Parts: sequence; C-alpha cells; structure tokens
Amino acid sequence: MLPQVIIIGRPNVGKSTLFNRLVGKKLALVDDQPGVTRDRRFGDATLLGLDFTLVDTAGWEDEDPHSLPGRMRAQTEVSTKGADVALFVIDARAGLTPLDKEIAAWLRTQEVPVILVANKAEGKAGDGGIYESFELGLGDPVPLSAEHGEGVADLFDALEPLLRDKQARREAEAEEDDDPFAVPTGPLKLAIVGRPNAGKSTLINKMLDDDRLLTGPEAGITRDSIAIDTEWRDPKSGETREIRLIDTAGMRKKAKVTDKLEKLSVADARRAVDFAEVVVLLLDATRGLEQQDLKIADAALEEGRALIIAINKWDVAEEPSALFNGVREALDDGLAQVRGVPLLAVSAMTGKGLDALLGAAFDLREAWSRRVSTSALNRWFDDALEANPPPAPNGKRIKLRYITQVASRPPRFVIFGNKLEDLPKSYERYLVNGIRKKLGFGSVPVRLMLRSPKNPFHDKQ
Ligand code: GDP
Ligand code: GDP
Repeated sequence: MLPQVIIIGRPNVGKSTLFNRLVGKKLALVDDQPGVTRDRRFGDATLLGLDFTLVDTAGWEDEDPHSLPGRMRAQTEVSTKGADVALFVIDARAGLTPLDKEIAAWLRTQEVPVILVANKAEGKAGDGGIYESFELGLGDPVPLSAEHGEGVADLFDALEPLLRDKQARREAEAEEDDDPFAVPTGPLKLAIVGRPNAGKSTLINKMLDDDRLLTGPEAGITRDSIAIDTEWRDPKSGETREIRLIDTAGMRKKAKVTDKLEKLSVADARRAVDFAEVVVLLLDATRGLEQQDLKIADAALEEGRALIIAINKWDVAEEPSALFNGVREALDDGLAQVRGVPLLAVSAMTGKGLDALLGAAFDLREAWSRRVSTSALNRWFDDALEANPPPAPNGKRIKLRYITQVASRPPRFVIFGNKLEDLPKSYERYLVNGIRKKLGFGSVPVRLMLRSPKNPFHDKQ
C-alpha cells in the first residue's frame, strides 16, 4: 500500500492543477469556477521517483467565505484522518484569505504532518503571498507553480522525509501485522545481549525454567537467530504476559575461536537487536562496565531500540553498592544517549531481580510505542522555546515553528523551521531531553529531524 498524500485548500488555489501535474493524467477537472472539484479523487502519483497515492479533496469549497459547508468539511476531515501527509495549498498571487487562516488553524490541531504549498508562485506576483504565508505557523512554504511545473524539487525535499518515515513504518507494520501507534499487546520481543560470559545463556535458561511454558523454538526468523516464546507472570498485576526471546546462534553454540569472541558478541548483538523491541544488555558484576559494553549499548540505541542495562552475577558482586553507583556514574558520564538508561541488578543464577527486569522491559516498551498528539506536542514545544529560546547566531534568530511526531517504535519527531543548519547540537539535546522528561518517553531513544524547506529568495537572487 502506498502512502497517502492529501491536497487541501480553498477553491481555486490550484489543487486540481497540482493533482494533474503529479498524477500526470487529466483525472481531475480544472475550472476557473470555484467548487468544480466536488468529489474526492484518487490517483497514483510520482514525484522524482517518490511514489504515493494522491487525494484531491472537495473540502472547503465555499460560496460564503465566513461559513464552511459542514458536509464538505466533514469529508475533508475524514480524508485527512487516513492521510500520511497533507499538502495545504494557498494561492500566492491572491495572498492569504480568512478561509486560508481558518483551514490552517484547523490543520494545526490534526495529527497529519502538513506541507504548506504556495502555488502560482511563478514570476514576482507571488512574492507577497509567499511572505505572508509564513504567519500560518505551518513552517516555510514551498513555492510552486503547479501550472508551469516549477518548484517540484522543493516539494520533493519537503515530502520525501515524511514519506520515507511513513514507508518504513508501513513496512514494519506489515511485518508485525499490528498498528505501531497502538499500545502493544503482542509478545514482548526481547533480546539479551552482552559480552561472552556475561550470563546470557544462563538468564535465558532461567526464564524458560520454572513453570514457564516453552512453546518454541520457532526457527527461521533469520538463518542466525530464532525466537523462543515464553510466558511470565507479572507479580505486580498477576497477569500472564507473553515474551518472545530473540536468541542468536552465537548464544546457543558457544564460539570456539576465542580471538573472535569480542567481535562475535557485537555482531550477535546487532542481529538480535534487529528483531527486538527491548534490548537487555547484561554486564558481568565481576568485571564491571567495559568499553565493549558501551559499544553494544550504543549499537542498540543507534538502532532505535529501548535499552535496559542489568548487572548480572549480583550474587557474587563484591561491594555491590559501590559497583552499582560506579556503573551508574560511568553511564551518566558517557554518551548522551546512555544517560538515564534504566540500570538494574540481577542474578541469572538465582533468579533474583528477574521480575523487576521484565517489569521494566514491559514498561519501556510502552514508552517506546508512545504517541503524543500534535496539539499536546506543540503546547510543550511553545513552552520549551519560551523558557529557553533558540540562539541567534550573527544576530539572526533561528526560527522553530512547529513539531510533529511522525512515527513511534522508536518515536520520531520532525521540527519545521528555518536556519536550522545553525541550530547547535546542544539545543537539539535540550529539546530531546524535554520530549523525554515532559512527554513521558523516559529513556527511550528519541529521533529528531529538522526540516527547513529551502528559501526560494536565496536561490533566485
Ligand atoms: P482548485 O479549485 O483548487 O482545484 O483549482 P484549479 O486547479 O481548478 O485551478 C484554479 C485556477 O488557477 C485555474 O484557472 C488554473 O489554471 C489556475 N492555476 C493553477 N495553478 C496555477 C499556477 O501555478 N499558476 C497560475 N498562474 N495559475 C494557476
Ligand atoms: P554467556 O556467554 O553470556 O551466554 O554466559 P553464560 O550464561 O554461559 O555464563 C557464563 C558463566 O557465568 C557461567 O559459568 C555461568 O554459570 C556464570 N553465571 C551466569 N550468571 C550468573 C550469576 O547470576 N551468578 C553467578 N555467580 N554466575 C553466573
């Protein structure tokens, strides 16, 4: 199924012309009379190799600029719900109208990411309308001439990252056969990774022990890994929860060539991580935190997985509290992304700490799958910008206009604005930390993408 892009705008801004331009067939009627496009039209569109389904809407057709016919508006609203991206078209020559502003205000309350398209931008007559359209708070406009085919590359630049994410999400969806934005209910896909001898096999065996049911092994996730389904009774809720352990070949058959061991554990970790929602990195209490562990942690987070670090062999740890605090500090001094990762102590041998570990893993999966509404997100965003405004390098303030969550599992956000290339990494970290702390993502890896559509005036002068 192709991602869906919906065209929205008041009558006569050039929606049908844009539809025809992208679909390449004269499927939609074009007319100077407002309101000719009465029905939703679908077409398979391609834009510089980007494929999607385009929807032309009847929405917002209106004789009286002060009132919106409810029936059509309702239809647009329904179409928008199913869309992955909305192209909101305005007429750059005519400038903003009250209806444009009304549509913009409504769009800002919607989940769908919006690209503002300033059509009829050929020549100079559209300049005023382009400038004016910034005030809609929907990011930089993409100036376009649907009729003359100008600005198509800029439209591609704006659309591509949004659709790419969507495509990845759909593929993941097809693979998992569930909605990635829904609260996850399937088995928790858990990978146990760590250096050789950290105790991975012992932990897996412990989890399969006792009265836990072994329904696997289910061969063939890949040549090198298998999944083992097991159940765990959550002592807090009394519920029985399903866990799918991702086991790698390297864990089962112990590698015999010792000098390849270190390399193998990282490669194993990578493979296991591919299939996991939550990754548990086991440390060996008798050895502490080593460079290799941080590499594995980093690989898991790079892949966007939720990570828990567990110090194993707690039963034989010397000076346990000093060890625990030492590891916590070392993590917090390390890479920004491992800071705040949950740290627990377990014994795979005795089973101590295992319930807490699995409880934390389920909680983390929930945060990892979390979705925040665009309106809640932008309320937080406005506050965060006010509390600590972005810097103004060379006296020119960086403008951050709007944020939207484009995916979960792991959560990804797109920020629209301009001069984003000058935005310091420290400011991005400030925003990521805010998202984690204020919006309930905790230690989950959060991706932030910055979108700054090219400024046409810099290109053309
Ligand atoms: P819709 O009602 O939004 O679907 O608008 P249409 O696609 O029917 O276009 C309305 C009018 O604007 C038509 O006369 C088009 O020829 C004209 N138009 C569309 N795109 C452009 C453009 O890029 N530049 C100019 N100058 N006119 C355009
Ligand atoms: P793997 O290479 O990570 O799969 O590690 P293993 O599970 O094979 O464990 C390596 C060694 O550590 C074995 O001798 C285990 O018995 C031992 N071990 C694993 N977990 C624990 C634990 O919680 N406590 C103690 N004392 N020993 C453990």
